[in-house]
Amino acid sequence: MKVTINPTTCVASENCSLIAPRVFANREEDDGFVSVIDAHPPRSEWAAAREARDLCPSATIWIEEDADDTDPSEGAHG
Ligand code: SF4
Repeated sequence: MKVTINPTTCVASENCSLIAPRVFANREEDDGFVSVIDAHPPRSEWAAAREARDLCPSATIWIEEDADDTDPSEGAHG
């Protein structure tokens, strides 16, 4: 998994760092705009990273899934 952001669209809502604090930060010195603190998060953070992407109000967060990123616990095969 690779996490990237578009800094021009972030509206500093701070949702992402609340949902995935090991992947995103909204620092006071950046006026709350997002930083990626782990662009290649461990598997344990994937669900939170995806949720942050899904709940970002400005579609600022992009996640590239690698071919081996399928999490067997997500029940891809039912
Ligand atoms: S949730 Fe989206 S808009 Fe809000 S701080 Fe994070 S990246 Fe920016």
